[in-house]
Order: sequence, then structure tokens, then C-alpha cells
Amino acid sequence: MLAKRLSNLHPYVPGEQPKDRDYIKLNANENPYPPHKSVGEAVAKAAGENLSKLGLYPDPDSTELRKAIAKMLNETGGVFCNTKIEGEKCTPDEKDRIPFEVTPEMIFCGNGSDEVLSFVFYTFFDSDRPLIFPNFTYSFYPVYCGYYNIPMMQVPLKSDWTLDSGRMIEEAQKNDSGIIFANPNAPTGISMNRSDVADMIRRAPKDRIFIVDEAYCDFGGESCLPLLKDFKNLVIVRTFSKSLSFAGMRLGYVVSSPELIQAVFTVKNSFNHFPVDFLAQTAAIASCKSCWYYAENAKKVARDRDDFTSFLKDHGYFVIDSTTNFVFTKKEGHTGEELYQAVKKAGILIRHFNTPGIEDFVRITIGTPSQMQELKSVMEKI
Ligand SMILES: *Cc1c(COP(=O)(O)O)cnc(C)c1O
Repeated sequence: MLAKRLSNLHPYVPGEQPKDRDYIKLNANENPYPPHKSVGEAVAKAAGENLSKLGLYPDPDSTELRKAIAKMLNETGGVFCNTKIEGEKCTPDEKDRIPFEVTPEMIFCGNGSDEVLSFVFYTFFDSDRPLIFPNFTYSFYPVYCGYYNIPMMQVPLKSDWTLDSGRMIEEAQKNDSGIIFANPNAPTGISMNRSDVADMIRRAPKDRIFIVDEAYCDFGGESCLPLLKDFKNLVIVRTFSKSLSFAGMRLGYVVSSPELIQAVFTVKNSFNHFPVDFLAQTAAIASCKSCWYYAENAKKVARDRDDFTSFLKDHGYFVIDSTTNFVFTKKEGHTGEELYQAVKKAGILIRHFNTPGIEDFVRITIGTPSQMQELKSVMEKI
């Protein structure tokens, strides 16, 4: 009774969400700090004073929200942890400043960046040529390739865990293909400089889409937003889930040229007119207005990440220097599964992968200082 296409599906497995015990959750790269209180107030007001609005369809185009996101990007450069914060005002660090104005026409919003990625894959990739991505990157990309019947070509990372950009470009040229990767990459946490990404785009096929997923960019690294001026085939996907403490409310967005954004709108309107509900739009607008608060949190996370990295190195762990809100680490003589189990016994969840090549590693989300203290006291005994 099932459609044949179901045999192409290999669903993504997220970090576990157990209910048997109150674990400290450091396994899904969620933000350890709550949303700003103005977000709660905006939602309470929307569900109270504006209760009748909950019975009406939301703005299908998220118009006000796209304005708010554009403003936030112009004020932060898309890298929260480097912004200058004065009172409730953010200014980008000089090197992150976007050399043009990001406008609402350059933005598309969806129900989490997972959904946004689904629309983007449908909009830009056909089944007539492979999509190029690294072998270790966000594991949803192969899932969507199966869903949309897009062939894929996974290029191994180099031995230092960085992208093999040379080989990715060779394959893209040979197959006249598009490219996608996360920058900073997951689960390694390594980011590529903007100028190196620009070199890649310059050599990649001009009329194929080049996607950079910037889910973790607010915690370090460099955003490719400034490159939108020079490259018409560049598509940047970002999310509110991590740096804006929004994983439970679901909001992701695309930044690209108005022409490509229009194409994504066409796909959205052929699937679901209203992917972002009224409460999510309300909460997200309030979040953008408090981006200074999230920038402070990103700075704390970045500081605690660097501190935790030093701790791990001091205790004999191999750690890849991270520019994200997580670290990827391993310890000689232990599998990732063993590290995961040892930490779980103490009531803390981290993530391990059974994928060959990274099965010795665990990925640990940076929590609050007290959570990290608890974790350290377990990990120093391993
Ligand atoms: C978390 C994550 C996403 C998905 O974020 P949502 O907006 O919660 O769907 C996308 N890409 C990468 C690389 C991620 O780590």
C-alpha cells in the first residue's frame, strides 16, 4: 500500500530526547540560555490581547519578520559573538560589516532551517546530476537527497578534518553541479574563512547553486553574507534554533538574491502557504529586537567553549578547535559510545555517531558554566 518512493527515505536521527530522567542535555546543540523575556511577553500578549488572531491565518510571507531579520543582520553582520554591544544596540565588528544593505526581499522564512533546506533542495537541484558535499557535514543533506531523488557525491574531509575544497570544486566542475556544506562545519566545528569560500565560489559552476549553511556562524568564524554582492548563485541558510534560543519554536531562513528568493517562495506556495505560524512570527520579531541579549549569550558560549577545549586538552583528549557552540573530541583507547555511556551514567547526555570514520568522537554542546563544571568532573575521571 506504500508508495515506491518510500524506499528512498533514510530518516534523520536527532539527538535523543529521553523522558526517563532529568538529564543535562548537551546533545542537540541547543542554546543553554532561555529566550529574552520580551519574547515571552510578546507571546503572552499575542495569546492574550490578540487571542482572536490565533483563529486567523498568519501573514503567509512573514513580512514584518523579514524586515526584522534584515535589520538584525545589518546590525550584527551575522556573527553575534563579535558584535560590539552598547546598551541595547549592536554594531558589527569591522571585518563582519556587510558592504550593502540586506533587504527583506533577500530573505525567505520557514518552519526551522530543516524545512527551509527542504524547500531549497526542491527549488535548485534536479535528479540529472549529483549534488556535491563533504562526507562529514550536516547529516540531513543526504536525507533530502533521498527524499527528492537527487544523486549525491560525498567528498572526504582532509586528514586535518577541514574541507577538501579543491576536490569538491573539481567534482563540481566535472559534473556541472551545485555544492552545499555547513560553515562552520558540523560535527567538526571547523570554519572556513570568507575569502577561501569566495575562492571556491569563483571556481564553481556559475549557473549552479552554491549553498552555505550558517547554523553556527553566530558563535565564531566568518559569515558569507558580504559575498552575496558578488555571487548571484550563492544561497545562505541560517537558523534561529541555536544562537537565538528558538529550537522549540522553529524558525529558519534563507538569504540570497531577490530573484532566487522568489523561486523559493514559489515552492513554498505550492506546498504550504503558512509554514511560520502567528506565534512564531511574533516571538521571532521580538527576538530580533533583543539581538544584543543573544549576542551576549553567544559571547559567553564562545568563552566557555574555549575554556572547555583547554580543559579537555589538559586532560589528554584530542579536541578540534571549534568556532561553534559545541566541541568534537575523542580520547585514545575509548570509543565515542563508551564516552557517551560514561557521561550518561552521571546524568549528562552528549552525542556520539556510529558513522565509520567518526565513531571514536563525541560531540558536546556547550552548556551553562555550572553544567560544564559537572561535565568536567565526570570527564576528568575517564
Ligand atoms: C541545527 C542545524 C540545522 C537545523 O536547524 P533547525 O532550524 O532547528 O531546523 C541546520 N543545519 C545545521 C548545520 C544544523 O546544525
